Amino acid sequence: MVESKEMLKYVPTTCPYCGVGCGLNLVVNDGKLVGVEPYKRSPINEGKLCPKGETCWEFVQSPDRLTKPLIKKDGKFVEASWEEALDLIVKKFKETSDKFGPKSLGFQSSCRTVNEDCYALQKWARCGFLTNNVDNCARICHGPSVAGLSLSFGSGAATNPFEDVLNSDLIVMWGSNAVEAHPLAGRRVMQAKKKGIKVIVVDPRLSATARIADEWIQFNPSTHIALANSMMYWIIKEGLEDKEFIEKRTKGFEDLKKTVEKYADVESIHGVPLEKVKDFARQYAKAKNAVIIYCLGITELTTGTDNVRSMGNLSMLTGNIGRPGTGVNPLRGQNNVQGACDMGAYPNVFSGYQAVALPANREKMEKLWFLKEGSLPDWYGVTLTEQINQCGDPIKAMYFMGLNPVVSYPDSNHVKRSLDKLDFCVVQDIFWNESCEYADVVLPGTCFAEKDGTFTSGERRVNRVRKAVDGPGESKYDWEIITLLAKKMGLKGFDWKSAKDVWDDMRACTPGQFGVTYEKIEKPEAIHWPCPTIEHPGTPILHKEKFSAADGLGTFFGLEYRPPAEVADKEYPYTLMTGRVIFHYHTRTQTDRCKVLHYEVPESFIQMNTKDAAELGIKNLEKIKVRSRRGETITIARVSNDVAPKVLYMPMHFAEGANNLTNTALDPLSKMPELKHCAVAVEKIAEGK
Ligand code: SF4
Repeated sequence: MVESKEMLKYVPTTCPYCGVGCGLNLVVNDGKLVGVEPYKRSPINEGKLCPKGETCWEFVQSPDRLTKPLIKKDGKFVEASWEEALDLIVKKFKETSDKFGPKSLGFQSSCRTVNEDCYALQKWARCGFLTNNVDNCARICHGPSVAGLSLSFGSGAATNPFEDVLNSDLIVMWGSNAVEAHPLAGRRVMQAKKKGIKVIVVDPRLSATARIADEWIQFNPSTHIALANSMMYWIIKEGLEDKEFIEKRTKGFEDLKKTVEKYADVESIHGVPLEKVKDFARQYAKAKNAVIIYCLGITELTTGTDNVRSMGNLSMLTGNIGRPGTGVNPLRGQNNVQGACDMGAYPNVFSGYQAVALPANREKMEKLWFLKEGSLPDWYGVTLTEQINQCGDPIKAMYFMGLNPVVSYPDSNHVKRSLDKLDFCVVQDIFWNESCEYADVVLPGTCFAEKDGTFTSGERRVNRVRKAVDGPGESKYDWEIITLLAKKMGLKGFDWKSAKDVWDDMRACTPGQFGVTYEKIEKPEAIHWPCPTIEHPGTPILHKEKFSAADGLGTFFGLEYRPPAEVADKEYPYTLMTGRVIFHYHTRTQTDRCKVLHYEVPESFIQMNTKDAAELGIKNLEKIKVRSRRGETITIARVSNDVAPKVLYMPMHFAEGANNLTNTALDPLSKMPELKHCAVAVEKIAEGK
């Protein structure tokens, strides 16, 4: 059918999936979404989209959307009015807080909802219940980036924009499969390669990104620090360090130098031949401008924060920071990983990373939020992963906004047992998901196409999200739900009528984003924070003249290699790594409702080496059983030499998949669970498929 032109509307907005933040046009006909069109003016993706972006409109109008509030009565969910559902939530949360105190509640915000929703949730938790037990799911992807980059550089954010790789002489992709996980960032790397810029991929697996690289450095899983320390030993030994930069802009060099002396040759740990390590070190140190791009391969380990700091060490040792074409850039998996943290949905900071421990920050927020002087707590709240461990004692009630912990958190059986211990649980989402079973109230929120707001991409660019269609049934904006709850409690400062009102509330208390107005981000170039004043143009590159730390210096850390919490042994002889595929997003609640994406990868699989498969008598595409100390799963074997012998790789997206097996052991600094590394056993169960 040819649509009448008059009826078509093109709404420029931001992709709802990964943290690259591509611009696209949603096409609306007669109040319904009918497709996506390129947004060529977007400087991020220049009109190009990956398969997820191309199909991102399909899930919006799925008949499976939540449309009414649901309340569990006698073990069954029944439809309820908003009034009844919100009254029940306020009653239960207040009763719990009154009886057990502010540490008995947990609030978890999502990295896939807009900044305004994240700000609203943390403000309600802090104002309504005087608790810092508020966190977001960045904890289980880039918590170590926030912690590690803050310790090294004074700011936990990416240092340079994506397109800046075109100004590099050497691009190091370390623990990042951008071609699949962040395809339009991967496109920039391919553009750079076409320009003659060298690309080195450091990954235990021959990923899609490793395939396009000029050089692939295969190393043993989770041995980043040993490899980085060895590189730094040779850089210093051969006098290739940037002495002037170290002298003028950093501290802690002697600590680093002393530590790396033990790592001259540690091939036995990381598995990379010594000459190759030396060559890599020389290339990185000698490049005029070298950038490190990393992802979950670095962060999702019990050494995550140290791994990130190792990347910081490498960049400062060689002076590769603070200029175009240099830097240390984490690629954020969800569209608003950066923003959810920026908004203060974090247990130790208000918006803009203003520490709750500082009395001046609390006093300021108390005034702006109409709270009694001295009422806001100074204690570090409980992180997302620890909240799950504390379900039942002391945490009695939890609020999940846009999250599916049963599938996306490590050790699904542990998560289910934990949620079962809660007295009261709320899930606010757009689809029924596996975690809703454990809720007492399920609330229908709205998705990216149905609301105004902002997503902050992995390069600190605050992009506009624009409403194209109405949400289904009785669904509400997520920030609006929070406003209604806050007003029922009689709280002041929640009189928001629009997403812009929420944003302006946030700006008023967040110095680094005060200058990011909705008016300024109307244009597709948007603004990179920091942007402290209305006149300020934004800051695409950080740490140019000085680092963001109070003394302006970057800090080196002498970091020792530590093995993962669980290593392969006789009983569980394989190392399991996890990751993403290009066609799916997180727990697939959205992408599995897009026909093409579902068709491409309809079920979970595991990659295994040909030698291991031959030893176990397993054929390609045969069903196998994989067991860990925590659970088991049945999946399909994909046999190749993309992974080394005794190493397995499994996508994270499937309910009956990787997180039945993964380990809850935590990084001591960031509380990141070890999602990327655990020990498993493999069994052959059936012939053929
Ligand atoms: S690269 Fe990321 S932001 Fe861009 S279209 Fe694909 S999923 Fe969306």
